[in-house]
Amino acid sequence: MTSPRFTSINEGFTCAACGKIVTPLSAGCRNHCPFCLTSQHVDNNPGDRQNPCQGLMDAIGYELNGKKGVVLLFRCRVCGVVLKNKAALDDPVQPDNYDTILKLTNAP
Ligand SMILES: [Zn+2]
Ligand SMILES: [Zn+2]
Repeated sequence: MTSPRFTSINEGFTCAACGKIVTPLSAGCRNHCPFCLTSQHVDNNPGDRQNPCQGLMDAIGYELNGKKGVVLLFRCRVCGVVLKNKAALDDPVQPDNYDTILKLTNAP
């Protein structure tokens, strides 16, 4: 069950937007900063880190998905693509900042 083609990389990173150290998720694959909710356009498929764009992605909103809970919407500053990623609200180490998520809908 270990095909390298489908390995998803779950690793810590330093947020390119706010500079904070982000730890890996205990479950799932973290691709955005829990503090400022900035992501980076690095995946073709979640976790593969194969996308050459590398643009920063701003959280632009969220939606409620019955099964997944809160799903964040990100837009790439470079290519403009909009991607969804499940919010990590229940991570025991670094949960996403819920206040910041709620403010997304108040943005002008
Ligand atoms: Zn950040
Ligand atoms: Zn992009």
